[in-house]
Parts: sequence; C-alpha cells; structure tokens
Amino acid sequence: MMEIVYTSTRNAAEKVSASQAILKGLADDGGLFVPSAIPPLAVGVAELAGMTYQETAYEVMKQFFTDFTEEELKKCIAAAYDGKFDTEEIAPLVDADGAYYLELFHGPTIAFKDMALSILPHLLVTAAKKNHVQNEIVILTATSGDTGKAALAGFADVPGTKIIVFYPKGGVSPIQELQMVTQKGDNTFVAGINGNFDQAQTGVKEMFSDAVLKEQMQKAGYQFSSANSINIGRLVPQIVYYVHAYGRLVANDVIADGEKINVTVPTGNFGNILAAFYAKQMGLPIAKLICASNENKVLYDFFATGVYDKNREFVLTSSPSMDILISSNLERLIYRIAGGDAEKNAALMRELAESGKYEITEEMQEQLADFYGGCTGEEETAAVIRELYEKTGYIIDTHTAVAAGVYRSYKKDTGDAATKTVIASTASPFKFTRSVMRAIDGGYDKMTDFELVDELSRIGNIALPKAIEEIRNAPVLHDTVCGVAEMPQTVKRFLGML
Ligand SMILES: *Cc1c(COP(=O)(O)O)cnc(C)c1O
Repeated sequence: MMEIVYTSTRNAAEKVSASQAILKGLADDGGLFVPSAIPPLAVGVAELAGMTYQETAYEVMKQFFTDFTEEELKKCIAAAYDGKFDTEEIAPLVDADGAYYLELFHGPTIAFKDMALSILPHLLVTAAKKNHVQNEIVILTATSGDTGKAALAGFADVPGTKIIVFYPKGGVSPIQELQMVTQKGDNTFVAGINGNFDQAQTGVKEMFSDAVLKEQMQKAGYQFSSANSINIGRLVPQIVYYVHAYGRLVANDVIADGEKINVTVPTGNFGNILAAFYAKQMGLPIAKLICASNENKVLYDFFATGVYDKNREFVLTSSPSMDILISSNLERLIYRIAGGDAEKNAALMRELAESGKYEITEEMQEQLADFYGGCTGEEETAAVIRELYEKTGYIIDTHTAVAAGVYRSYKKDTGDAATKTVIASTASPFKFTRSVMRAIDGGYDKMTDFELVDELSRIGNIALPKAIEEIRNAPVLHDTVCGVAEMPQTVKRFLGML
C-alpha cells in the first residue's frame, strides 16, 4: 500500500505523517497539510453499494491515514458513528423534486460539522498515543455559534482530552447559547466573553502562541490543540459521505455503476466541497462540483474571474455559517492547481494577507473546469424553501436552500438536467427554525422560538430532534463570563492550574 505523507501548502520541506498532521493541525509556516498524492479508492462500485457508512469510512480513511492500523481506525470509526446519530444510515439520501438531498445533520448538534467533529477527537487521541505524547490534550476554540457546540459534543467525555470553548456573550443566538451552556461532560468548559467573536478568536490565537503559558501547561501535563476546520482529521472524514452516497444511489438503482453524478455544496470555508473534489480525485464518478455561495459571493466571483477578492462589504444573511470572506480551505485547491508548487501558493497567500486579494493565472483557471460557481440571494433562498415545501412537503434549511437555488440556476444555465445530482444538506431546518418558517409563511414571525419548533415539526411531519428536545429542559451547567483580557486566567482556572 502507498504510504501517504503530508506536506505544507507553503513549504515543501515540511513533511509529516498523517497522525502528526492531525496532531499539529496547521503547519509551522501557517500552511495547510496536504497529502503527497490523492490515493485511489481501493474498492469497486459494486462493493461500495453493499457497504454500511462505517465500512465505507474505513475504506476511505485507510487510504489517507496510512500510519494508523486497521484496528485503530475501526475503533475511531465505531466510536464516532454510533447512537449519537439519530439514524443508523448516518447520512441518508432524500429524493425531492429531482435532486438527492444528502442529509448530513443527523448527529448530536443537527448540522454537518458533526460528521467530522464526532471522529476528530478519537483520531487525535490515537495520534497522540502513536506519537508518545504524554500530556493531556486541551482543545481551545473560539466560536461564533455552531462549531463550539459541535466540538463540545465531539470531545465530551473522550478520555485524555479537555475542551474549552469561548463565545461572544450576547453575540450568538439564544438557542446556540443554550446548546453550549447545557453541555454535559466533566471535561467540557464553556465561557462567554464580554467582547465580539473576533476578540474571542484573537484571544485564543494569542494563547496558542504564548510561550510562557505553553511552558506552564507543559509542567501541569497539558498541551493545546485545535479542532479547526483546516485539520486534515476533519477533511478526510468528509470525503466518506460522498463515496457512501454514490454507493447508495447505485444500490437503489438510481444510477448505473460508473455513471457520473453532480454534487452541489453550500459553501463557506470550502472544506465540504473540497472533500467532494478529493472524492472525485480518488476516482468517484463525479461530473460537476457545484459551489454555492450566499450573498457573500467571494467564491462565485473567484470562479467567474480568477480573482479572489475579500475587500468587500460583509453581509449578514439567513445562512450565517456561510457568511465568510476568507475560505481557508481554498488554499488546498490553489496549491493543487499551482501544480503542487508550495512557493507559488505561498506567494498568493502573502498577497491575500497583504492586500486582501490575488489573481490566479489562466493556466490555473483552466484546471477549474470541473467547478461551477453560483450564488443565491436572500429572497430567492426563502422562495426555494417555500416552493419546495409547497411542491413536495419536504423542508430544507437556509444553507441547503442556497445550494438548491444554485442547482436551479445551474440547470437553466447549462441545460444539464439529466445528470443525477446530490445536494449536500448541511443543517436540519430545526437549527434555523425562524428563517425557515418565515420563508414558508411570514405570519409565523409572531411565534416564540420553541413555538416555532413545534409548528415546524407539525407542518413538516418530522419528529423533534433529540438536540432540540434536550435543550428545552436541560439545566445550565456553564455560567462563566469573563473579560477578553482574562481569557488566559480563565483557562488556568478551568484546568486547575491556579
Ligand atoms: C460550516 C457550514 C457550512 C459551510 O461548510 P464549509 O465546509 O465551511 O464550506 C454550510 N452549512 C452549514 C450549516 C455549516 O455549518
């Protein structure tokens, strides 16, 4: 079997094993770790069609994480994709109005980050053991809402880890805050800060690079790590559901063995769609990778012009998890279309840091032919939700609706209505209930959040997810609030170091 090593997108000389890449998260030079080659799938489609989600996960992950043993990987997979998910299928496909919605929201926080964050803790602990790390791993995260809860749920009660999440007090939705402050698990810690998300993020970054704190932590038997979305231990598990979905489509006779499908992905940080791109590179028969943006359409413009330009107004939309102007994972694609040239990529990233924009060469642009960029505005997003509901009774969330809207324009624009298309459905409608219900009927706006939840359950004929049921009555377990300057003290107090 081919041994895969990981190098930095900014420095060819930095080479590490898969487990080291997972432990480090980010390369020392600020680059992202990329596999030396994208390995091919080692199983045929006929076999895939008969596989469970967990079996597919093993087939994909063993190709990338070549320094893990079979036993280690299978243990991680079994611990991640279990009863935490509310369906044995883990990521079911729903056929509605001529598209296949790949529901990635059946995990503990009812959004797609669970797909990766439920396995990352186990990969991390295994990687630490393999590399003889004696310290306990402390995950430190700043969150604007969603990632914090998904990370808390993933790391809760995982031996050998502690997780600390900082969020802007008053800067997240009431449901998001409730989800975090009711989190169970002796190793979980949550603190609101008197400041905004950027201040929380900066505070966390400063702690990561604080040499004195690092030494104090070391003495106390701790070391920091991050559950950031650029960790290769989050990216690879995301390839799995595309491969699995393809197998299901074959098993259900929707497509023939080898028939190409399109994949449409509501995109923010570019992690989810990059995973689909990697799946295609592994040999999965994918025709177009349809990249959907909301009104923060940096990526749409990039695919249209070859210029990435974040110098623009930041728009708050009803799909907040896609309100992003710097799509960090795009760097891995840039590196690839630069022919794996770390220097060339590093130069572009320097430009981005200095001037907020860069332009790729025509030669690089030609390699993006498999991508189709589109965007959906706020009004159309709401119309997509309403029209799909009225036509089929199926209710999708706002992020998924942005993707469904782009798929509509893709069909009109290209005339390609024949290729079977999977749309990544990244959040349960219960996660963004108010926006979803308002889209269906403006009159719903009068209701309280929990009334809306019950009404959504009734009109959509969908059971209330456990995640919502739980926070309704759960006791608040975390009530720490601190100033931005007190973040390091708060960490030390949580870790019993004071
Ligand atoms: C994070 C997120 C996205 C964007 O995914 P990326 O991998 O960052 O592109 C889309 N929808 C939802 C609901 C998310 O939480």
